[in-house]
Amino acid sequence: MRSVTILGATGSVGRSTLDLIERNRERFEIVALTARRDIDGLIELATRFQPRRAVIGDEAHLLRLRDALAGTDVEAVGGEGAIVEAAAMGADWMMAAIVGTAGLRPVMRALESGQIVALANKEALVSAGALMTEAARRHGATLLPVDSEHNAIFQCLHADRLETVRRIVLTASGGPFRSWPLERIRTATPAEAVAHPNWSMGAKISVDSATLMNKGLELIEAFHLFPVGVERLEVVVHPQSIVHSLVEYVDGSLLAQLGPPDMRVPIAYTLAWPERMETPCQRLDLAAAGRLDFEAPDLGRFPALALAKAALAEGGAKPAILNAANEIAVASFLECRIGFLDIATLVGEVLAGYAPGAPGSIDAVLEIDREARRAATDLIGKFAH
Ligand code: NAD
Ligand code: MG
Repeated sequence: MRSVTILGATGSVGRSTLDLIERNRERFEIVALTARRDIDGLIELATRFQPRRAVIGDEAHLLRLRDALAGTDVEAVGGEGAIVEAAAMGADWMMAAIVGTAGLRPVMRALESGQIVALANKEALVSAGALMTEAARRHGATLLPVDSEHNAIFQCLHADRLETVRRIVLTASGGPFRSWPLERIRTATPAEAVAHPNWSMGAKISVDSATLMNKGLELIEAFHLFPVGVERLEVVVHPQSIVHSLVEYVDGSLLAQLGPPDMRVPIAYTLAWPERMETPCQRLDLAAAGRLDFEAPDLGRFPALALAKAALAEGGAKPAILNAANEIAVASFLECRIGFLDIATLVGEVLAGYAPGAPGSIDAVLEIDREARRAATDLIGKFAH
């Protein structure tokens, strides 16, 4: 029996995690489920799964949560601090599936309490990777990558033999605009950007996949999870999303993990780790898939990937600035306040105009994050169309 907590339970990754747990109810005890403001979703999940605690981030909904769970054994609490506390309730395993830097404090708290942390919340590693991996080491926590590429690498990698790794290759689907000319990309709408060809995901990461910023964030994530050095990390576009990433060894062997494009596969790997468990995912039919294509990413049409590579090479506060500016830019694009190509331009301008030193604490990261968001917000008017 493994006790589990799920942060961001109402989201795409959170629900996929609960789907697997529901099919293996006898193997898991649920400690806490959290959400920001999807109160109906949280009430439904808390009623169905009966965790010890249900946490709503937005306290305006707390009364409704209390009413709905009255007479059950589920404790209803609210507020940002309550989400951080939920991360330290002593579960054996925690899924970090909050989107954005909102996940920083809770993930840090879980690492400090020495749990197994299954990490989907890539922004936490992008903004504060050095602090997170150091905390995991110091407190004996285990960080398991949920992101499909990193999960694939984790499966292909003998972490104790990093010196035998020649390079790590992250695959990218290329997103919905992979074959679009620049002029067509310029007028892309939010609906077109979130219509991912292979994966069904939350809105923010779907836009990140369309700009290729997602792959840039993932390069930074990989840099922290697999310390082989930035020069040994590469990206290749693979439109079928069947090969989820590869590790090349010094002898010329390339190991890859393949699977259907269903997040329940990598999530199951972390849920059962170090064992494996069954999933209901459609099995991969290689003959039906027929072919696997690979091509180099086009940094001209997708400049966000180049920005992320530069931020990773520069290090210090740059990845946190990149991530914060991108969160604002993506939200503004989804609200139709800026165009699709403005996302990368805006992020580039914020990166060029703000250069604090490397953050030494989560508070410092959050201060840089706030300042970069402010700078990005100030620039929005310039792009408004
Ligand atoms: P989502 O938008 O579907 O869900 C986000 C969840 O986090 C929700 O439960 C929401 O209530 C909660 N949340 C959002 N903002 C919050 C805040 N400020 N405070 C507290 N809780 C908050 O997102 P998702 O697609 O499930 O992605 C979650 C994370 O996993 C992201 O970091 C994403 O990059 C990563 N990821 C997702 C996928 C995928 O297939 N969806 C794949 C790889 C990685
Ligand atoms: Mg990914």
